[in-house]
Amino acid sequence: MSEILSIKDLDIKDKRVLIRCDFNVPLDDFLNITDDRRVRSAIPTIKYCLDHGCSLVLCSHLGRPKEGQKEKFSLLPVVKRLQRLLDRDDILFANDVIGLDARTKAKELKPRDILVLENLRFEKGETKNDEEFASKLAEFGEVYINDAFGVCHRSHASVEAITRFYDEKHKAAGFLLIKEIEFSQNLLKRPTRPFVAVVGGSKVSGKLQALHNLVTKVDKILVGGGMAFTFLKASGIDVGNSLVEEDLIEDAKEIMKKAKELGVKFYLPVDVVAAQTCSQDAIMKFVTYQEIPKGWMGLDIGPATVRMFREALNDAQTILWNGPMGVFEIEKFSKGSTKISHAIADSHATTVVGGGDTADVVARSGNADEMTFISTGGGASLELIEGKELPGVKPLRVKDR
Ligand code: AMP
Repeated sequence: MSEILSIKDLDIKDKRVLIRCDFNVPLDDFLNITDDRRVRSAIPTIKYCLDHGCSLVLCSHLGRPKEGQKEKFSLLPVVKRLQRLLDRDDILFANDVIGLDARTKAKELKPRDILVLENLRFEKGETKNDEEFASKLAEFGEVYINDAFGVCHRSHASVEAITRFYDEKHKAAGFLLIKEIEFSQNLLKRPTRPFVAVVGGSKVSGKLQALHNLVTKVDKILVGGGMAFTFLKASGIDVGNSLVEEDLIEDAKEIMKKAKELGVKFYLPVDVVAAQTCSQDAIMKFVTYQEIPKGWMGLDIGPATVRMFREALNDAQTILWNGPMGVFEIEKFSKGSTKISHAIADSHATTVVGGGDTADVVARSGNADEMTFISTGGGASLELIEGKELPGVKPLRVKDR
């Protein structure tokens, strides 16, 4: 694959720059931002542009708004956080996306001014990759920068259609996007070995393609979370009421067979935390994988599995982690994920974490600073592992090299 057009290669001096950011942050019921990692990750590109005398128009989506849900999905909380992170109180906010307010405010921008547009998804054209909407959006910047890795796997107007309105001298990836892509690509191309993948999360289905691709690249795969039970069942184990995707049992067998043929060590849990219901007040038991009682389900990896996984991670030089080891949202079933987070953070390996839930586990476990790289995009990072070209990145590749 060719190189990506970088913001560093563009002449942006004193220009009006439109940056597609990923400000899709989680908010609580009072509209407080509960994790501002994505806003903080956008700062290097914003500051670089300000240092070059640019005026900036920032745009992003937030959540999945439906008709009439304006306040809950407004980017206003993000603007307030940006003011604080950039230590300035003059950031402008438009109460529409391509409407009169946005256009009027954009017209008056002076060098180093910043205008944030309202949630892109308030416009129907955004998710439809509508070219007309994209062309109106493109009027906000002489230069277009994409720094929104989290949405690059989607063909949306602000990441895909908009690139048709800029030539190679006027569009590029921002620092965050470049870092994300390079990290994932180089990791898979040239990992220092042993290379260990730790995968978890609810289902095999969401990660099937990634597993097929990973098995050809890694030395060991450690499987936890709900997806482990499809593999256990495929190995002939009775897993009670645990989450199983019956229609993927053959795929699970195929992946394990491939691992065996390639000499890849494939680890499944040897014990689990089982309960009859998935709730904090449920009675729980630690049982070996052979002894999950009828009607019970495995909701976390057990202590023996944690020890075994830790042992398997011991000699790793590269670790890729995607997916929690259990239902970490419920404290009772969060220990497995927390302990694996500590084990990965403690290792001397290059550690790369992908997926919103996994990043959340790492943050809750207090290990965020110890990881080498935490991706800001769940779906997008998974598609990179699958070996796919992302629709938002393809138009930013250098064409003639
Ligand atoms: P994913 O989006 O596929 O990465 O899955 C993340 C979700 O998997 C989290 O919300 C976890 O609660 C859930 N999960 C992890 N382990 C289990 C399990 N053993 N049974 C059911 N759900 C699980």
